[in-house]
Amino acid sequence: MFYEYLKGHMGISPQVANFVAETEASLTAQFSKADEIAAVNQLKILKAMQQSRLSDTFFNGSTGYGYNDEGREALEEIFTRIFKAEAALVRPQLVSGTHALAAALFGNLRPGDTLLSPVGRPYDTLEAVIGIRPEAGSLAEYGISYREAGLTPDGKFDYDVIHEALNESPKMATIQRSKGYSWRPSFTVEEIRELIQCIRARSPHTIILVDNCYGEFVQADEPVEADLLAGSLIKNPGGGIAPGGGYVVGKREFVENAARRLTAPGLGGAVGPMLGMTRTLTQGLFMAPQAVSSAVKGAILAAAVFSRLGFDVNPLADAPRSDIVQAIKLNAPEKVLAFCWGIQKAAPVDSFVTPEPAPMPGYAHGVIMAGGTFIQGSSIELSADAPMREPYIVYFQGGLTAPHSFAGVVFALDAMFKKGSFTL
Ligand SMILES: *Cc1c(COP(=O)(O)O)cnc(C)c1O
Repeated sequence: MFYEYLKGHMGISPQVANFVAETEASLTAQFSKADEIAAVNQLKILKAMQQSRLSDTFFNGSTGYGYNDEGREALEEIFTRIFKAEAALVRPQLVSGTHALAAALFGNLRPGDTLLSPVGRPYDTLEAVIGIRPEAGSLAEYGISYREAGLTPDGKFDYDVIHEALNESPKMATIQRSKGYSWRPSFTVEEIRELIQCIRARSPHTIILVDNCYGEFVQADEPVEADLLAGSLIKNPGGGIAPGGGYVVGKREFVENAARRLTAPGLGGAVGPMLGMTRTLTQGLFMAPQAVSSAVKGAILAAAVFSRLGFDVNPLADAPRSDIVQAIKLNAPEKVLAFCWGIQKAAPVDSFVTPEPAPMPGYAHGVIMAGGTFIQGSSIELSADAPMREPYIVYFQGGLTAPHSFAGVVFALDAMFKKGSFTL
């Protein structure tokens, strides 16, 4: 009925609808795996909320300094439980994932220290934070050096280079779980755990930060062995309900250092008004496992559909997943544009606009971003982005419900089909 409706009432070419319908029918095993993971994560979150005695009176929220905000404290305790940590900072004042990561880095690094990335080049916006791309106010400007161990050609950790870098006992190591805008595998919780063990064995004092953006609740576990994890609430853990915010969670000392950077030394996490957002942040967390599994199912469908058409996809439809991102190598700028136009047409908001590539703050290349979202820039909602550079890879993610995520795949495919990007 779903595909009949798309053909009959939404202008989708019958060949495209039939092709996706046929592909979807072959994915039941992968979908039921995603459902199982969502079920476990739902219980984990429910239990944390019950243990933290979450109460209706907490949702009123605070203003001004935000002293003694019980709701904020409960929300942070809930994050602390979910991530088996000592402390958390979950704040509307953290504007984005980049901001949360920057607070964790600046809060814990001092002049003369070294930051190591053992997983290759970090996410585009972190290049400016670290100073890989020269930028006023970067870590580099404060005398913090950066060292990188690239991945092996098959996308694995390059332990020879990592071991050598660890001989110098870097103050911090940052491990990005998701692929970001690169054609590398996203790392599973198990792989990250193994890397953390290696770092601990050779350099026990190195503070290990995991960039957990896009990874939350995709697996039944999180990389809780890290000293710090950080992410964005307009991605997975906000469940599409949180209107903004970010989180840092981990060892108390390091979270407090991030809090001192976010507010001011002497104030730290003791201030921070919730400004009426307590309920949406908490409810969003509660909804997150469902939203994440919907997004994962859409990603699996996209992988299956595009690989059937002969495009390279990363990851494959039946590969284990550690994030919600589906990369598809389209090899041509016009195919990227058509894909993104299709995603935009599938949106509930601004479905009538045509996205174009544009310079973005924090990104070195022009980026096209499609997504008519309720929360600006939210990428747990149906969205696609692509840096306009070779080999023209589009990164597809999100969808708060599985039918919407599937509709995104159908609309993207249909837009490409109508532009002659492939034949059926
Ligand atoms: C989204 C993302 C970030 C942070 O981006 P923001 O837009 O600032 O939230 C950092 N790392 C990765 C891997 C990401 O996917």
